[in-house]
Amino acid sequence: MIKVKPLGVNGAFTKYYHNNYIFELGNRKLLVDAGTTLRSSLIESLYQESDITDIVITHLHSDHVGGLEEFAQRCKWVHNHKPTLWIRTELAGGLLQIISSGLCTDGLKLSDYFNLEFIDDGFIIDAYEVELIYTDNLHAGNMLSMGLKINDIQGYKNIIFTSDIAKHKEAQFDGYIDQLTVALFHDVSVVPNAVHSFLHDVIDYYKGKIELNKIYGMHYQDDIDIKTLNKETGINFVTRNTTYEF
Ligand SMILES: [Zn+2]
Repeated sequence: MIKVKPLGVNGAFTKYYHNNYIFELGNRKLLVDAGTTLRSSLIESLYQESDITDIVITHLHSDHVGGLEEFAQRCKWVHNHKPTLWIRTELAGGLLQIISSGLCTDGLKLSDYFNLEFIDDGFIIDAYEVELIYTDNLHAGNMLSMGLKINDIQGYKNIIFTSDIAKHKEAQFDGYIDQLTVALFHDVSVVPNAVHSFLHDVIDYYKGKIELNKIYGMHYQDDIDIKTLNKETGINFVTRNTTYEF
């Protein structure tokens, strides 16, 4: 069983929490993105840093990486815990630049905080393969970014996670959908937005490609009427601190 717990579901400028997730994959807990609100959202989710075994960062906006340095500091100094940080090779320069200056003091190296693993296509944790879906320049211009496809290696199910995306048609997530896909976590903005997918475009595009009730909308604006939108659109808007089991 894959458990997905959103630590937050909203955008970069939210008054609540950023769109960061924990995927429970067997005995491992994969943190997907670490925004600046992570210090609070993690506590409210009833997890703590030492529960997180693995981390992957989808792109370098602050609502996805701004909390990573503090997370690392707390892992080391509060919990004496060293998680694995899976780093897409092309993202390594930028990512390490963001966190190194605060972490690599007094002779410390990043490898004192994380088990560092550099990856190109994906990685395997427990009985799951986490596949990278490159979306470079399709969320924001001149930006490396990626979504994820999480495959149950036994071949029972998979979940697709777009992370932030504007040009979802060009990203061709639908090419990753198959009969084993149980959920598509998709960026949806309820108003047109240059760097995020517009809700109604998403619904129009995926009609006939996947059942709408398998689409889980995320990264949406604060304080929208989720119940009404769920009913009107037929998709699910994820809510924070709800555990979704697949
Ligand atoms: Zn972003």
